[in-house]
Amino acid sequence: MMFGARPRAGEVDKTHIYPKDLVKGAANLGLMAVEVPEELGGTGMDALAYAIAMEEVSRGCANTGVVMSVNNSLYLSPIMKYGTQKQKEEFVTPFIDGEKVGCFGLSEPGNGSDAGAASTTARLDGDEWVINGTKAWITNGYESEACVLFATTDKSLKHKGISAFIVPKPIEGLTLGKKEDKLGIRASSTCNLIFEECRIPKENLLGKEGEGFKIAMTTLDGGRIGIAGQALGIAQASLDCAIDYAQQRKAFGKPIANLQLIQMKLADMEMKVESARLLTWKAAMLKDAGEDFVKAAAMAKLAASEAATYNAHQAIQVLGGMGYTSDMPAERYYRDARITEIYEGTSEIQKLVIAGRLLKEHSI
Ligand SMILES: Cc1cc2nc3c(=O)[nH]c(=O)nc-3n(C[C@H](O)[C@H](O)[C@H](O)COP(=O)(O)OP(=O)(O)OC[C@H]3O[C@@H](n4cnc5c(N)ncnc54)[C@H](O)[C@@H]3O)c2cc1C
Repeated sequence: MMFGARPRAGEVDKTHIYPKDLVKGAANLGLMAVEVPEELGGTGMDALAYAIAMEEVSRGCANTGVVMSVNNSLYLSPIMKYGTQKQKEEFVTPFIDGEKVGCFGLSEPGNGSDAGAASTTARLDGDEWVINGTKAWITNGYESEACVLFATTDKSLKHKGISAFIVPKPIEGLTLGKKEDKLGIRASSTCNLIFEECRIPKENLLGKEGEGFKIAMTTLDGGRIGIAGQALGIAQASLDCAIDYAQQRKAFGKPIANLQLIQMKLADMEMKVESARLLTWKAAMLKDAGEDFVKAAAMAKLAASEAATYNAHQAIQVLGGMGYTSDMPAERYYRDARITEIYEGTSEIQKLVIAGRLLKEHSI
């Protein structure tokens, strides 16, 4: 899978510039719409192919990986699943060639994990929805040309009063907050979306009124397979870098790869990434078979993000002082790995999902 992402990964991390040419390169290989059917211009492949593609792209460049994951999992996927034919033609087909990307607006300044407490509102006024409120942490916030947005249409119903919408961007009544200055995935933009009396057509409701929370949760279930893939890519890249360095660097007259304590680190790293990969592929295969994959996806995301953080940490250790400088990629892997434990549900939330499903499976 070659489109030049790996050699550019260090540069886009340093400059913080959105890698449009890399996104286009990924799109040319069909990677910006992996699971969209060919009739709509997509690649028509399955969740397993998507997980593998996410891993390979993120192994080269986790920034390209995050842009790809948001477009595929969080933007296109809910429109494919819940959208009308007209919505698919308008908001799916133009978002597959890398020119346009989408975003996903669920989190708010006051609620992330507790997504059901959304305070952004949408009220119907004639033939238009009028949106007010602020969404936080929105990946692709600056570059995206449409957003799958969640807003409350009936506050009295709590999370059952949340609805999903498709908001074209730019649009009157929507302003962008400052770009967040982040630890990792620094070339992807993350910002607030601030809605003030923003009007969208009535037909831009996605799914039924009140179905928004379900749409958000099912979207995130699938998205976790993509983030697991991103984390695997970072974990594998960390291991690749450690193996390579250990065979070249000499200490006490021989390559450090000959030292058993270094070998132990490499073995642990391989175990972590390979076991998380098997969990990820299992989750993807369950999804492709139309079976319940919620617990499997949460386990995959948890294991893969922990593998990424562990492997990047160990890679720096294997590289010694060189691991601590930006001349080598290990420190970038370390910074990029950390987000995979936070977005699309923190590790704590994955554990709640896993335990919840487990207790349901074994209820007495
Ligand atoms: C770089 C980046 C990109 C993002 N992109 C997007 C995006 O595109 N769209 C979007 O909608 N959101 C996005 N997010 C938001 C992300 O999904 C949230 O940050 C995440 O869900 C956590 O929410 P929070 O930050 O409000 O943390 P909080 O919910 O405030 O959590 C704080 C801590 O409390 C813990 N915690 C919370 N509830 C529980 C519980 N019940 N049990 C145990 N522990 C708990 C959490 O695990 C965490 O450790 C992004 C975030 C970042 C940093």
